[in-house]
Amino acid sequence: MSKSIAITAGHSSTDPGAVNGKRTEAQIVQDMVKMVSVYLERAGIDFETDVEDGVNQPLAKAIKVAKRNDIAMEFHCNAAASSKATGVEVLASEKHKPLAQEVAKAIGDVLDLTLRGVGGWKSEGSGQHSRLGFISTGGGLIVELFFISNPSDLSKWDAKKWLVAKAVAEVLIKHAR
Ligand SMILES: [Zn+2]
Repeated sequence: MSKSIAITAGHSSTDPGAVNGKRTEAQIVQDMVKMVSVYLERAGIDFETDVEDGVNQPLAKAIKVAKRNDIAMEFHCNAAASSKATGVEVLASEKHKPLAQEVAKAIGDVLDLTLRGVGGWKSEGSGQHSRLGFISTGGGLIVELFFISNPSDLSKWDAKKWLVAKAVAEVLIKHAR
């Protein structure tokens, strides 16, 4: 059975999220939504986002969007005090564990990053963001693409971000059909 898709960007135009120098998590994940959108549109897949007219809408809007779609992914960057912390992880309920692992692997393969948690999946209770609403109320998955606080993770992203978007879009397209 085909599933409806939503992709949303963590944080908002007024909340930068994690920061590394001039780079903000909010800008990176908004970029990710735009790039994934390109591939979904190209494949003729209908989807919703929370980015409207170049504005990354706040979490309350993202939760509403997540709730009315079968698969909802919100993109974030991880951050830690140690610049050595690295890897990709996807937070989701037990129900979405296989999909979470599939997306984490797709990203990890492109960026050559460690899969954190259980094959890239972590339960909704773990992690540092106020993300419970998106998962428990919205039924969505929180995709922590890489560590913005790790210069190596960040440079891999800069070099390969379109390939990351393509890989994630391919997973979504597979499930949307
Ligand atoms: Zn975040």
